[in-house]
Amino acid sequence: MVKAVVGANWGDEGKGKITDMMAEDADIIIRFQGGANAGHTIVNDYGKFALHSLPSGVFYGHTTSIIGNGVALNIPVLCNEIKSLTDRGVPEPKILVSDRAQMVMPYHILFDQYEEERLGGKSFGSTKSGIAPFYSDKYAKIGFQVSELFDEELLKEKAERICETKNVLLEHLYHKPLLKPEELLATLHEYRDMIEPYVCDVSLYLDEAIKAGKEILLEGQLGTLKDPDHGIYPMVTSSSTLAAFGAIGAGIPPYEIKEIITVCKAYSSAVGAGAFVSEIFGEEADELRRRGGDGGEFGATTGRPRRMGWFDCVASKYGCRLQGTTDVAFTVLDVLGYLDEIPVCTGYEIDGVVTTDFPVTSKLEKAKPVLEVLPGWKCDIRGIKNYDELPENCRKYVEFIEERIGYPITMVSNGPGRSDIIYRKSSLSR
Ligand code: GDP
Repeated sequence: MVKAVVGANWGDEGKGKITDMMAEDADIIIRFQGGANAGHTIVNDYGKFALHSLPSGVFYGHTTSIIGNGVALNIPVLCNEIKSLTDRGVPEPKILVSDRAQMVMPYHILFDQYEEERLGGKSFGSTKSGIAPFYSDKYAKIGFQVSELFDEELLKEKAERICETKNVLLEHLYHKPLLKPEELLATLHEYRDMIEPYVCDVSLYLDEAIKAGKEILLEGQLGTLKDPDHGIYPMVTSSSTLAAFGAIGAGIPPYEIKEIITVCKAYSSAVGAGAFVSEIFGEEADELRRRGGDGGEFGATTGRPRRMGWFDCVASKYGCRLQGTTDVAFTVLDVLGYLDEIPVCTGYEIDGVVTTDFPVTSKLEKAKPVLEVLPGWKCDIRGIKNYDELPENCRKYVEFIEERIGYPITMVSNGPGRSDIIYRKSSLSR
């Protein structure tokens, strides 16, 4: 059976923890989109890890970790990440990389930096990992696919052709040093040698795995609001963050995805620019940021402080709908235990009209949050295993949000560890 773990919001919802936890019963975990531009933080018996490329199930001996064709594959980053795990005592993971995945090249990272420099204050807040130039090249049909590394003649011709194209921009738009075909070819050879042990016809492998009844997890990066079609365009990422894309980015039939676990955090956070209606500022935001996540809300890849806000029912209802949610995993609830009262954004006021439907970006910029204030529970809920044992106000918070978003919250996460999870029967039917 195939299940997807995806985010409802701007990313950083705690997908890594939920995937790592669910991976205990899984055979295969697949990354199907995105690159090393965001990260998951995972706490387990080996320590605390920030993963950027590898799927979150990589810590178990029994799982196979797959980089699907939809991923922006940065080969040196992937190989360093594998090494950083084995250096810290994690057993050598079983990793497969799709022969149809395309590679982030050093010039993609340079172009990302040059473009941000050129745009100055009007930049998109890129993490400068080369993701946007990578996906632009993929769809402009000038990307390098892993399979091409093993065709020397093709590689040589293509290296020359790509340098010619890129050098026009480097010379005339960015005024930067030019690419040399022989250097590019040498890099491609290095990448070939690094990736060769992992290369696999992944869709064929998965077809056989599905037929054999294996448990397969698709692990999404970022969340609905960063999707290029359904998110806050243009402040989005360059590949689809939706569970539906899991079928494409892994190479499996869409009807095989039977469960979609959408991860929602008990409050909001976002990185990068873009409208964020329920955002809070000042000391209120600093305190939530300091207490948030596991050791503060700072980017796993960039270390950037995250923007903070109250839970947003409008964005999360939309986020869950576009994912096709069967289950909501509601995370980081323990962090809110310090608050006397907890505001929740239940509507957007746009030009004097209140709506609960998430609008297009131009209207979103004008939206003001409609807040309802719920009482806090003022205690530490970590360690609680049964839903009924949560304080009444805490249960009321969960149930209020479930009712507003309209999707069943079947898991409540009350700590960063694998076992900090409360399963719950929801009254909402699927
Ligand atoms: P992801 O990209 O969606 O996996 O999210 P991140 O890893 O960036 O952010 C989630 C952060 O919250 C990490 O530091 C996790 O260890 C932590 N975390 C996940 N679930 C919980 C939880 O229920 N409680 C607490 N306190 N921290 C959590």
